[in-house]
Amino acid sequence: MLIESVTTELPDTKTLRLKWPDGHNPEFLTGQFITVYWPDTPGYKRAYSLSSCALDRGAYEVTVKRDGKMGTRVVDWAKAGDKMFVLPPAGKFLPDFAPGKQLICIAGGSGVTPFRGFVREATRRNLDTKITVLYSVRTTNDIIFKQEFHELTLQNPNFNFYVTCTRLNEGDSWQGHRGRIDSAWVKEHVHDLPNTVFYACGPNALVEATEELVLQGLNVPKAQMKTEKWG
Ligand SMILES: Cc1cc2nc3c(=O)[nH]c(=O)nc-3n(C[C@H](O)[C@H](O)[C@H](O)COP(=O)(O)OP(=O)(O)OC[C@H]3O[C@@H](n4cnc5c(N)ncnc54)[C@H](O)[C@@H]3O)c2cc1C
Repeated sequence: MLIESVTTELPDTKTLRLKWPDGHNPEFLTGQFITVYWPDTPGYKRAYSLSSCALDRGAYEVTVKRDGKMGTRVVDWAKAGDKMFVLPPAGKFLPDFAPGKQLICIAGGSGVTPFRGFVREATRRNLDTKITVLYSVRTTNDIIFKQEFHELTLQNPNFNFYVTCTRLNEGDSWQGHRGRIDSAWVKEHVHDLPNTVFYACGPNALVEATEELVLQGLNVPKAQMKTEKWG
């Protein structure tokens, strides 16, 4: 597929828009990932969660952090007009939009990418699903999609976006939460536990820590939690 555009989200994070070929109108679900590779290295494939949603037609969007071989090549070298091979969307990290649900979406760093898709879809469809994103970053300069999430909170009264910063300097004027995501902070946002579904996405260590916090710390049944481990 043709890289239609490359948008810088942060100095080390970019969003690629991969244009669907003419006549291509794929069926897929918000929250799935695509697998991509470069024409010159077809044996080296990597997965990226869609940061767009299933209602966004015409192109896939993925948001990639400079990390490892593929992440570095994408962020430092991909440009509009380049071509990448793309395997069809797959995966079961899907938002539960059944009526009356609250989705608590926990992310660290680039793990927030699929949640933009969740919120975009819920907002565009005017769903009553409550979505709460709890997002851990190092500093206020590391918030991916800050502007779009802020706009979505204005458009969607059922969406809340909370950030915790883990590495601020003492004197920083940040008014929000500080420190790692812990069970007390998660619990503050749960209003109806039986109807709450927890999501965690990102590097294995963060997802595993979050699983423990939710399943053991908050005593949530496993069936109410979905995870996407990036490795
Ligand atoms: C379902 C799924 C969805 C994903 N979605 C996204 C997404 O939306 N956005 C995103 O940015 N990523 C995402 N990832 C991760 C992505 O697939 C890549 O793994 C990531 O971009 C790193 O590229 P790589 O695997 O080529 O890195 P590799 O080169 O294989 O490196 C992997 C890790 O090891 C570290 N490493 C490499 N060499 C060394 C060394 N010598 N010493 C110490 N450390 C080293 C790298 O820094 C990196 O953290 C997703 C993964 C999965 C499975």
